[in-house]
Amino acid sequence: MTEHLDASAAPLRDLHAFIAGLPKAELHVHHVGSASPRIVSELASRHPDSKVPSDPEALVDFFTFTDFAHFIDVYLSVVDLIRTPEDVRLLTYEIARDLARQQVRYAELTITPWSSTRRNIDERAFMDAIEDARKSAEAEFGTVLRWCFDIPGEAGLEAAEETVRLATDDRLRPEGLVSFGLGGPEIGVERPQFKPYFDRAIAAGLRSVPHAGETTGPQTVWDALTDLRAERIGHGTSSAQDPKLLAHLAEHRIPLEVCPTSNIATRAVRTLDEHPIKEFVQAGVVITVNSDDPPMFGTDLNNEYAVAARLLNLHEQGLAELAKTAVDVSFLDEPGKARIRQEIDSYTASWLAP
Ligand SMILES: [Zn+2]
Repeated sequence: MTEHLDASAAPLRDLHAFIAGLPKAELHVHHVGSASPRIVSELASRHPDSKVPSDPEALVDFFTFTDFAHFIDVYLSVVDLIRTPEDVRLLTYEIARDLARQQVRYAELTITPWSSTRRNIDERAFMDAIEDARKSAEAEFGTVLRWCFDIPGEAGLEAAEETVRLATDDRLRPEGLVSFGLGGPEIGVERPQFKPYFDRAIAAGLRSVPHAGETTGPQTVWDALTDLRAERIGHGTSSAQDPKLLAHLAEHRIPLEVCPTSNIATRAVRTLDEHPIKEFVQAGVVITVNSDDPPMFGTDLNNEYAVAARLLNLHEQGLAELAKTAVDVSFLDEPGKARIRQEIDSYTASWLAP
């Protein structure tokens, strides 16, 4: 599933190297969905009774994407390996290591706390585990992490209530929490029913970033905008079918978090060449490029930048702009944004210097 640029084309090879070193921000990536074979191997060896192999080579096969049902299998097997607060800490900290290797300076990681608390992980210990990982990762890797707590839509209003409680209770709410999301399948999971939960999260100062229009039509995106007061949209792929919606997103500068490889893996879009990313840009919609559930879709953020470079015909300067857009529309504070923007500029200038 990895994007292969023509190996004989030297400028494109250079572009891969440029992307690999480019400081970046990742705004749409899931916690459990970021567990790489390396991390799963560590978790599996802590829980030998699980059906997940701990041998790294066997894990590569286990992870090889075959279809969406297989992705769900892998995802649920990894969920089953996260049984203790120490598992949560290890997963979170090791994800930061993988992000730092790709020069990701800032990431908003979507966490589904409901998956853990309903499996009897103590809620206080869960929050401490992610916060401990966040602080260690920032000190050791220089990667700043922030959290988005999301409602697993398929689990309904009970999960919504639990998620908003964990996100807004002053005794529990982690320092790194910045936003509130809605994930899971979209078909049959109407967005408007979650309005009261988003209202409470927004009232508590959290930013609204629901998934919408990934596997359903543009109406879901409208619902996310009007009912859930979305500030950014996760995917929003089907917005391309509605010119009025595209104009609205462009006018109000509501970004779409585009995850190209994920959209192919889940069959939301048939092929990369048919991906509407170019139509978004032509319509003036702000976009960011993201990796979603990278190891499970055989990708990473660097590969998504390579995909965007090909689909949008971007070179170094355009890719640097793309990276800066993600910084601009992130929920990082202004000094933090300025620092990463500056780093992107100086990296790009030194790369392009004769
Ligand atoms: Zn997602």
